[in-house]
Amino acid sequence: MVESIRKLLENNEHWVNEMIAEDPEYFSRRNDNQTPSFLWIGCSDNKFQPNEVTGTDAGELVVHRNIANLVVQADMNVLSVIGYAVEILKVRHVIICGHYGCNGVRTAMQTSDHGFLDNWLRAVRELQGYYWNDLKMLKGEERENKLVELNVREQVYNLGKTSIIQNAWKKSNHPYLHGWVHDPNTGRILSQTGMIHSDMSLKEVCKFETGTI
Ligand SMILES: [Zn+2]
Repeated sequence: MVESIRKLLENNEHWVNEMIAEDPEYFSRRNDNQTPSFLWIGCSDNKFQPNEVTGTDAGELVVHRNIANLVVQADMNVLSVIGYAVEILKVRHVIICGHYGCNGVRTAMQTSDHGFLDNWLRAVRELQGYYWNDLKMLKGEERENKLVELNVREQVYNLGKTSIIQNAWKKSNHPYLHGWVHDPNTGRILSQTGMIHSDMSLKEVCKFETGTI
């Protein structure tokens, strides 16, 4: 066990040396005050990194990840990141990106007891209940994928209703909100919402407006 964690530090030392050998300015340049244009809210268990799938540098994205990419109104962590990105950094775009094969969404669909985690995933379970008449017609992976998509739309709605986004929209039509799903089988990102920049466009992803899938 100690050996395996030591390996990570050894790898780090090798990596630092390799990067400096290739480009002596690598670290000083990466630390330049590049202003990010995007906030990425993704899932903790996505095997792919946001910069990897979007072809961006680390300095271009502010990244927040939690299980099932949720925007929970009482979560000070996500609200603080959104506030920092929107009010201080003034990012132009906020992306919520779920992914197929999401263990968080899969766990929320199960009726067995997962202890404390069930509290966090309750919002996804309730979303499944809201759309159950449509979801029950689907089987297995198809049902799971559909709930991943619906969850992204729901979280974009929650995001748009935060006081941070509402206040930003009173001053301008920024930031734009985007709901995406990453498909790990193809590598492709699939848009679920289009660009949202007002209460009017936010209505289009509100479950009480759309009602069904
Ligand atoms: Zn996930």
